[in-house]
Amino acid sequence: MIPVTKPFLPKIQEFEEYIHSIWERQWLTNNGPLVNELELRLKNYLGIKHLLFVSNGTLALQLAIKALGLKGEIITTPFSFVATTNSILWEGCKPVFVDIDEGTFNIDPKKIEAAITPQTTAILATHVYGNPCDIDSIQEIADKYSLKVIYDAAHCFGTKYKNKSVFAYGDISTTSFHATKVFHTIEGGAVFTDSPELLKKMALMRNFGHNGPDEFSELGINGKNCEFHAAMGLCNLKEVDDILDKRRLLSFYYWKALSTLEAKYPKLNENLDYNYAYFPVLFDSQDLMLKCLKALENEKIYCRRYFYPSLSTLPFVTQTHMPICDSIAKRILCLPLYHTLTCSDLDLITRIILRVQNYDQPAHTANLSHITPVSNLQTVFAGLQNDAH
Ligand SMILES: *Cc1c(COP(=O)(O)O)cnc(C)c1O
Repeated sequence: MIPVTKPFLPKIQEFEEYIHSIWERQWLTNNGPLVNELELRLKNYLGIKHLLFVSNGTLALQLAIKALGLKGEIITTPFSFVATTNSILWEGCKPVFVDIDEGTFNIDPKKIEAAITPQTTAILATHVYGNPCDIDSIQEIADKYSLKVIYDAAHCFGTKYKNKSVFAYGDISTTSFHATKVFHTIEGGAVFTDSPELLKKMALMRNFGHNGPDEFSELGINGKNCEFHAAMGLCNLKEVDDILDKRRLLSFYYWKALSTLEAKYPKLNENLDYNYAYFPVLFDSQDLMLKCLKALENEKIYCRRYFYPSLSTLPFVTQTHMPICDSIAKRILCLPLYHTLTCSDLDLITRIILRVQNYDQPAHTANLSHITPVSNLQTVFAGLQNDAH
């Protein structure tokens, strides 16, 4: 069985050492030493001034919206995980969808201005698959109309934009450290901001608004995380460079092996150090995608349709037709990508896909010569220099 992703697990002995230390201290949660150590190490690793470790990536979004005091309408992308839209609604605001760019699959800044009304207070955009949005254009619009910017950077651990962590952009950025993400703490997330006021506010909010044992200065919630999750984070942080390298390698292997597939890949931002968080394939037709999905499932290889359906079709939003997002959501498939995936797994996956294309599509009958597996990584690396990605 090959799933779309597998959570990274560190050496159990390393995790056990942290667990023993928790037993000795008997300090399980509430701003414990491991939570503090993880926050410090994350700041150093990411080269970022401030962050708060919180219970998950969805709560991180909710904290961001609440801390900015947003009301009314929030402009957002229809092409993301459902938590992006849900957090807007959960905080009593209205999501207003703006269609995506057909190259990057991120919100299209050219279409944002037309969606702004007197009720608009913010833009909440997702850096889809870890590929940054057009940050400069979005900021320009936000400045012009005095809107706040929140980035859902749940896919972005390890991504840099203009040589800075992408978490450094926007009024607030949020991320998820869920077990399925590139870096994880089992469950967890973080908020990032440069503003000392917002940071203080969110720090109070994540702890019930407590400002001293008997004092409450904010409406708060329980957004804390605990020592056990921090321990997993500390173990995984030591491995994250290896994890990132491995995903990069596997992605190039995929691109190479699938060079004859009738498909496209997201156009990556130019000012980018990419984290290769996912391997999305945009098939030319939904029919071909569905046939591949089925053929892979027959071999117990499970992909995911990230992101389908378009969030603008959710039953609890004002449904809006988003031609580009709807078309992309129908044809997109994320192929398996995780650190223990092997080249022979990739050979199997890519051969199945090309076999479906070459046998089932009348235009490409029986020319199978080009689907010989890429048998070793040397071959891939030899070709890397010429790769456009
Ligand atoms: C995973 C994810 C979230 C939610 O994170 P959780 O930690 O699972 O709550 C939000 N937005 C996007 C884009 C995600 O992929």
